[in-house]
Amino acid sequence: MCGIIGYIGKKEIVPLLLTGLKRMEYRGYDSAGLSILDSSSELKSIKKKGRVNDLELASMDLNVKGIIGIAHTRWATHGYPNDINAHPHFDTKMNISLVHNGIIENYSIIKQKLIQEGYSFRSDTDTEVLAVLIERFYDKVKDLEYAVRLALNEVNGTFGIALISKYEPNKIIAARRGSPLILGIGDNEYLVASDASAIIEHTKNVIYLNDDEMAILSPDGFITKTIANKKVKSEIHQLEFDLEQIEKGGFEHFMLKEIFEQTQTIRDAMRGRLLVDEGNVKLGGLRSVRDRIRNARRIIITACGTSYNSALVGEYLIEQLAHIPVEVEYASEFRYRSPILFEDDFVIFISQSGETADTYAAIQEAKQRGATCLGIVNVVGSSIARATDAGIYIHAGPEIGVASTKAFTSQLTVLSLLALYLGRMRNLSTIDGIKIAKELEALPDKVQMILNGASEIERIANEYYQSRNFLYLGRGYNFPIALEGALKLKEISYIHAEGYPAAEMKHGPIALIDKNMPVVVVAPKDEIYEKVVSNIEEVKAREGRVIAITNYGNTDLEKLVDHCIYIPDTLPLLTPILTVIPLQLLAYYTARLLGRDIDKPRNLAKSVTVE
Ligand code: GLU
Repeated sequence: MCGIIGYIGKKEIVPLLLTGLKRMEYRGYDSAGLSILDSSSELKSIKKKGRVNDLELASMDLNVKGIIGIAHTRWATHGYPNDINAHPHFDTKMNISLVHNGIIENYSIIKQKLIQEGYSFRSDTDTEVLAVLIERFYDKVKDLEYAVRLALNEVNGTFGIALISKYEPNKIIAARRGSPLILGIGDNEYLVASDASAIIEHTKNVIYLNDDEMAILSPDGFITKTIANKKVKSEIHQLEFDLEQIEKGGFEHFMLKEIFEQTQTIRDAMRGRLLVDEGNVKLGGLRSVRDRIRNARRIIITACGTSYNSALVGEYLIEQLAHIPVEVEYASEFRYRSPILFEDDFVIFISQSGETADTYAAIQEAKQRGATCLGIVNVVGSSIARATDAGIYIHAGPEIGVASTKAFTSQLTVLSLLALYLGRMRNLSTIDGIKIAKELEALPDKVQMILNGASEIERIANEYYQSRNFLYLGRGYNFPIALEGALKLKEISYIHAEGYPAAEMKHGPIALIDKNMPVVVVAPKDEIYEKVVSNIEEVKAREGRVIAITNYGNTDLEKLVDHCIYIPDTLPLLTPILTVIPLQLLAYYTARLLGRDIDKPRNLAKSVTVE
């Protein structure tokens, strides 16, 4: 959550910080702010409730020239989103300015102590407590870096921070524990940011700070060390994407662009991995664990949100193809319930950003109990990618729309590859392997066929966008897709929606059905199709309005339902990659008709880096 950027260099600083914030605005957008050290080492700051655009308007009058600055776009955890609670936060004398991502869990105790010592506070945030704590130590040791280290030793929780101060005006100090921070190493310019999208237009050379590390940036260079003041050798990595990839490319919203990119991103997830002629898969990222995973006693997949829904499909896939028992768990539950793990268990962590706080924390839990940890992650070099023993990147490219679309189908693709890989190592025949591999290879073109029918889905959205509730039903492989369809609609349209296993409907939700209730039924022609048709009959008998997703040519269903959306044929186990596309489009068009802020839906943030 939240985006941090800091810059030292020769470029004009205010526009640079604002552009950086805009690139990270998907991370949090309830308020924003920035601080600059001007040429006479005075701190100039501005903070505003609302979007980065509001901050931009407010900073028109901020005529400062400076070479050092920090900025922040917030996703509130502690304190209402208003001007005062916006970051940066300051010490009492307004000489230190701090931006923070994360949560200082023991802020309340520290705050009480500081109040007793005579310090005062302006905001309701946990972050301000850290700023004042740094002041308290600075008053004693008169050394900014040392004061920061002492203060960070006192706090519990998670932080990615960047701070500047008029006490030592030629530096930015940054540090992390549990929240992402990346350094950008340019030509006589240095940056720190929460993610690479804010850095890419300045340099492709980056250093990923590890937990409990800090960096001191100055006009002449940078130093990295641990918060305990031990030397670290940081490796410089090259960013692998371009600026164009994080721009809208003519689409009205990032989400729509990302939906339409799926033909390509699904292909990218398979590139160099799928061995069609052998009916097998090559997964270089799993080389180090290959022999052990063959004999895994059990696989546990943990994730949050959309990634959790992909994990549910992964469970069905791996159990069917590889016959390894799989359990799926919310990362936030997994880490707090003393899970029983064995040393021959594998735990897979799925996260688009690779920074999801709950998922990241669950890794520590699994490691402590001796399990092998694998990551399925999009963002290269992210915390989860680095903390796991091995893994598979989904290679979907930057996903900016807060509601995940292309990352989801890439996760499903990678989970299909993984299931095939495991299956072929165990008992799946070459013939079956080839059949699945061929179908996987054909998926991108089939996705394109569905996208070509987008206008029909827009027409359906037109009919239902004023509904107050939606029900989504699916069975087997498509039960998680019903969950995902409902989640997409909730996230961006704010319409209440529930996903349910189709057969479970009669145990409760059927009470909700009347002529005003649209029911989206995912009904591809598979071995349980007839059962799903019975569930549709049950809805129609109660006058519900049914939108069905089924295969081209299955015109029989048209007689029963109100609308049919068609997908091409594929193997039942691969249908989720196709059936979810119309649901993404339905959510998108519904939200657009309602005039919602699709790429930045209220209360949400892209990368959930707080618990
Ligand atoms: N906990 C801090 C706050 O509520 C930081 C939140 C964030 O990561 O944006 O202000």
